[in-house]
Amino acid sequence: MSSAQREPIRFVDLAAQQARIRDRVDAAIARVLDHGQYIMGPEVAEFEAQLSAHCGAAHSIACSSGTDALAMVLMAAEVRPGQAIFCPAFTFVATAEVVAWLGAHVWFVDVDADTFNMDPASLEVAIKSARDAGHAPVGVIPVDLFGIPADYDAISQIAAREGLWVLGDGAQSYGARYHNRRVGTLATATATSFFPAKPLGAYGDGGAIFTDDAELAETLRSILFHGKGTSQYDNVRIGMTGRIDTMQAAILIEKLKIFDDEIEARNRIASRYSDMLKGHVATPVVPEGLQSVWAQYTVKLPEGADRAAIQAHLKDEGVPSAVYYAKALHRQDAYSHHGVAGGALPVTDMLCERVLSLPMHPYLDEETQDRVAKALISALG
Ligand SMILES: *Cc1c(COP(=O)(O)O)cnc(C)c1O
Repeated sequence: MSSAQREPIRFVDLAAQQARIRDRVDAAIARVLDHGQYIMGPEVAEFEAQLSAHCGAAHSIACSSGTDALAMVLMAAEVRPGQAIFCPAFTFVATAEVVAWLGAHVWFVDVDADTFNMDPASLEVAIKSARDAGHAPVGVIPVDLFGIPADYDAISQIAAREGLWVLGDGAQSYGARYHNRRVGTLATATATSFFPAKPLGAYGDGGAIFTDDAELAETLRSILFHGKGTSQYDNVRIGMTGRIDTMQAAILIEKLKIFDDEIEARNRIASRYSDMLKGHVATPVVPEGLQSVWAQYTVKLPEGADRAAIQAHLKDEGVPSAVYYAKALHRQDAYSHHGVAGGALPVTDMLCERVLSLPMHPYLDEETQDRVAKALISALG
């Protein structure tokens, strides 16, 4: 084994990206230090305009995090106790957490076994379950898991029939494509995250909300600044500190410039993984007409495979892996009293046993990727 081969592999390599843009990021940070407008400085509006140009949303509102982006949309929708909101159980906790903040009922929906995204048939079941329990359905939060947009056509059709708004949780999918549209334009409102390890990551927390609804956009701009009216000293609603830092906006402007190139690299790397792993594991399924941004490259191990042993074998070979998610939200202590579509989520439970995420970032070279694939194939025996 050469020393390069023994070197541990990074699951997400933020240092490689930084090396590419370090000079421009340093200059951007220096400009903020020079003008000193750390809150709502000129870079915030500039970044928002660039996001709108990039994704096609009429309004882009940069904010403090992906979680706060979701929460602020729910605040704008005046979500309250007694209402029911539907989201998948196979997601990061923030999707459901914000519903619980506002005292509404979460109804967990099952996911599709191939895309890992909300199953529209299970959503129908959940709506009926919620009504039977006496809860008032008001909204649905599909999640674009691992970077693949959810089935927005089917979900929006159900939502329109049932009078529900649709809030897309695009925390993992900013930049992804759904037929001829991009994430940010697929729902009433879309929330995304710029957490450092997300496909478009800042050097700290950040997020954004996208909408084509001008009135909603204005309400959101008020909520993110303590419910301001004409100023933050004129308070017309309950709000919060939901702004993005100028510094993060300045950094994200530089990162957005190389983002489409990075999305291309992620797609090239993902299809190379799939070519190598096909037949050994169930490789990710991207529906026809959609393009993922590969927040994760997640395979399904064969039924009955010993995932812990496989991960240990990979670790011995210097290959990191991760399980997103080992414990679904309906099985978490903090959420076990919320609703479950039809009383059980069999696909979610199956995925929690069998998924495995492999190293994925735009700077993963072919030699390293070969090592990952070979290690997994040998671990499978
Ligand atoms: C990361 C993530 C969030 C939360 O984003 P933060 O910026 O970390 O608050 C919400 N939903 C999903 C699906 C996520 O992956």
